[in-house]
Amino acid sequence: MESTQIVIEADGLVKNYGTFQAVRGVNFQVYQGEVFGLLGPNGAGKTTTMEMIEGLRRPDGGHARVAGYDTQKDLAKVKEVIGVQLQSTSLFELLTVEEIMKMYASFYPSPVPVEPLLEDLTLTDKRSGRVKHLSGGQKQRLAIGLALVNDPKVIFLDEPTTGLDPQARRTLWDIILKLKERGKTIVLSTHYMEEAHVLCDRICLMDQGKVVALDTPRNLVLSLQSDSAIEFRLKGLDERTEENKKHLLRELSEVREVKGVELRKDVFVLYTDKLQVSLTDLIEKSAGGVLELADLQTRTATLEDVFITMTGRSLEEK
Ligand code: ATP
Repeated sequence: MESTQIVIEADGLVKNYGTFQAVRGVNFQVYQGEVFGLLGPNGAGKTTTMEMIEGLRRPDGGHARVAGYDTQKDLAKVKEVIGVQLQSTSLFELLTVEEIMKMYASFYPSPVPVEPLLEDLTLTDKRSGRVKHLSGGQKQRLAIGLALVNDPKVIFLDEPTTGLDPQARRTLWDIILKLKERGKTIVLSTHYMEEAHVLCDRICLMDQGKVVALDTPRNLVLSLQSDSAIEFRLKGLDERTEENKKHLLRELSEVREVKGVELRKDVFVLYTDKLQVSLTDLIEKSAGGVLELADLQTRTATLEDVFITMTGRSLEEK
């Protein structure tokens, strides 16, 4: 990212649905040319936050500005610079890909040519196919294409790969990265941490309507102060009392160089930045017969670990 020009400002955004506060004072800034991720589990408030920035929902508190324009006061100006991916379920099923693209292009004073856009989205061979016959991935690419016809500076993609198979997801990732290469600013919501890691320059972790952390993927993982995780089950865990499990967690936190310990369902997770030292000590402790380890494995710490450490919940949880 070469420039740090601010393109989006979310300033204390609040949204209430009746007595329920879905977004509770969200602040962030998005820079020119970056892919900015809103990452959080279902219901975290990602869509509501995006819609307030797009000017589609009126905030109950705070302000949003895009390219310096207030999304409430200067909505027409905001619309000129943004492209919003529609949910693919709301596309006109009976039109062909080309027809729907041309129809959207006709809405704007200076749309981009449709042909190269279809090419970029790898939809050229589907141009005469009706929308209803497209696969999930093709529909998502078309939905992104429609967001691009007005050559927007800022593109909003709300969970663009949800429900897609891994290959379709990767095709979309490539398209998003190409848009970034062309200098577009992209705001992307997702609850897939791998997607956020691959695509985003910075990630805003959201939970229950709030920002819990905001940084580059690397710095978020570094904030754990541990680059590795050791996972294992313990035989006979079911028979232990809650008190006993707490005692076990305390004991495990004393394994050498361990920075944090968690019990996720029946899997213990130990965080460390000295994997070998911690692993050796854990195995030595277990050799005494107190702990009977099962399914032991080690892995690199991830954004999911950051999220769980900060909120106590998993990203993929419903
Ligand atoms: P998802 O991944 O499920 O889309 P999200 O992070 O985008 O989740 P939002 O869609 O912004 O979350 O929803 C935030 C909260 O607000 C949820 O608890 C949701 O049920 C609630 N909510 C969203 N829209 C409305 C609405 N129109 N009326 C009432 N509650 C709503």
